[in-house]
This record gives sequence, C-alpha cells and structure tokens, in this order.
Amino acid sequence: MDFIYDSQGSSSVEIEKAISRIYLAPASVDALFEIVVNRSKRVEGKGKYLIDRVKNREIKRIEVAEKYVVKTFRKIAFSSPFINKLHPFYRELASIIIDSDDYRKCLAFIYKSSKLIEKIAREHIREIKRSQSIKDIVKLRKAFFGRLKSILECIVRIRKYQLEFLKLPSINPQLNSVIIAGAPNVGKSSILKRLTSAKPEIKPYPFTTKEIIVGHMKLNDKIIQVIDTPGLLDRPLEEKNEIEQKAILALKHFRGLLLYVFDPTESCGFLIEYQCLIFKELLEWFPYFQKVVVLNKSDVFTDQHLTKLFSICPIIRNHEIVKVSALKGANIDLLKRVINEKI
Ligand code: GDP
Repeated sequence: MDFIYDSQGSSSVEIEKAISRIYLAPASVDALFEIVVNRSKRVEGKGKYLIDRVKNREIKRIEVAEKYVVKTFRKIAFSSPFINKLHPFYRELASIIIDSDDYRKCLAFIYKSSKLIEKIAREHIREIKRSQSIKDIVKLRKAFFGRLKSILECIVRIRKYQLEFLKLPSINPQLNSVIIAGAPNVGKSSILKRLTSAKPEIKPYPFTTKEIIVGHMKLNDKIIQVIDTPGLLDRPLEEKNEIEQKAILALKHFRGLLLYVFDPTESCGFLIEYQCLIFKELLEWFPYFQKVVVLNKSDVFTDQHLTKLFSICPIIRNHEIVKVSALKGANIDLLKRVINEKI
C-alpha cells in the first residue's frame, strides 16, 4: 500500500502527491467490461485442429481479460490513500467526508477481488483444457466473462470514495503553521496578504461552501504556512454545525501558532464582547497552540478603543500583543519577528 505518512513524523509525501497518484476507477462497469471484451477479442488461436485453435483462442481471451482487470484493480487498490498511513489531520478530515471503515473494507475487497479473478481464470482455463467440445469451450469462456462482470461491480463504490479524496485540501500539516482567527472583517485576509509573498491559494474544505486560504512566508529559511479559514474560526462555537466543529478540531494536528486578530474600533461590525468570546473559545479549542494577539487597524484605533478592549477582554494581557495596520503595512515586520520567535 502507498506510504504517505511515516509515523516518525519525518518528511512525508504530502496529500497532494498522494491524491495525484490515485488511479481513478472507471466511471461505469459497462464501459470497463466493454474495454475488456474488446481487448480479448483481438487474440487468435493457434493449433493444428479446429478444436485446438478454439481452445487456444478462448484461453487467451480469458488470460487477456484477467490480466487487464487484475492490473486495473491492483492499480486502484495501491494508488488509493491508505487511511492508516495518512497524517492525522487528513485522517480526521477524511472521516468527515467518508465512512473510513467502509472505505478500508472496499479497498481490501478490490484487492481480494483481483485474487479471486485470478483463481476463477485458472479454474476456467483448466476446464477448457479438459474439454473436448467446442460448444463447452465457448460456454466456459462465456461463464468466465459473466463472473468477471459481476465482480467488476465493486469499482462503483471505490470510485465514489476516490472522488471524495480528491476534494481534500492540499495543505501540508507538517509545515510550521500560523492559523489566523478572529471575527469577520477584523482584517484577517489583509494580514495574511501582508505576511505572505505569493498570491494565497484558495482550497476547498471538505464540505459545502467553506474554503481554506493558504499562503507561505519565509522566515530565516523556514517556510511557514499561513492559513485563514473564513467562516470557521470567526464565529462562536454554538453557531457551528458538527461537521464544522470536526473540521476545526482537525486543525489541532498542525504545529505552530494561532494569530488572533482584534479590531478594537469595532468597525468590523462586531462588538469587543463578541470578539473576546471567540478568542476565549479558541483558547479552549487550541490549548496546545502558542497564541499571539494582533490588534489590527492601528491607523484608526485610539487610546480609548484600547482602554475599552483591555477592560472588556483583560485575558489578552496573558498573551503577546502586537499592534499593526494591515492596511498601511505598519508593524508587519515586528509581527513577523514575533512569529519567528514563537515558532
Ligand atoms: P477579514 O474578513 O477578517 O479577512 O477582513 P479583511 O482583511 O477582508 O478586511 C475587512 C475590512 O477591513 C476591509 O475593508 C479592509 O480594507 C479593512 N481593513 C483591514 N485591515 C485594516 C487596517 O489595518 N486598517 C483599516 N483602517 N482598515 C483595515
């Protein structure tokens, strides 16, 4: 099976590569069966007598079909991600979108089916060799193809799973990460753009409308992944459904720090009380993460704004605080230095 994560935590092939390796099961049983039948028809039988030529031809037809299907099945089985070898982050995400146990069974079934096809082919070939009538020989070949077609049905199930895997976001949980959180409109995406160089990539998250936005920053030769999760880390727990909660929890497998952004001016449309509530929740959700509090919009906030913030949300004093203006680019270098120290 494919090895896409090693338990020592050293470098592993990322999900992107694992996914790009997936050999997608054909879309329809009939289409696959047609390919197999057409390939098998191309053979010719050799032999002195008609019955030898027919035997030889029908055996070859079975062999061609068997080899093609066995090869296809094994490619499907070995190229599909092996759940136990996935990084825990992806294992959890996968469990949101698929029934992991059934997927495992399905993969095992595909592999076993490839063995079964070999066995059935051997049995039918043995019978054909013993046969003395052309009619029986042809009947045996047809019987083999009938059994084969019924086994092919299992590709439908595995394909559904493979397509789900293709939806997983390709982010690397082994890179040091900065996860940006905070109420909507406080300036998270503006900060992400300031911190990272290239245009951030937008990746679908494995359910309906949510996306993950990923950028990369380089700090003293360290590549750091900066992640924004609009709609996930910007609302209190009670407003999230079960799937969203699971998706958030999957993030705990990242290593790095949580950058919590406040807008002390409340021009984002959310009161300090609300912003503070989300912050407190995240402290509980991510106890194992380092935290940095970012007070954004320093170009417009005043001392009064800060006094109000500290009195309503005194807990932020327990954390490193950096005042920035994502709009003007003020103190972004300082923020980078703090990230570098913490990471
Ligand atoms: P997000 O929803 O948290 O990702 O917030 P955005 O980055 O989309 O910013 C929301 C709004 O706040 C936008 O209109 C930004 O231009 C504005 N904004 C972001 N950072 C600053 C800042 O430092 N100062 C000011 N005055 N506005 C900002």
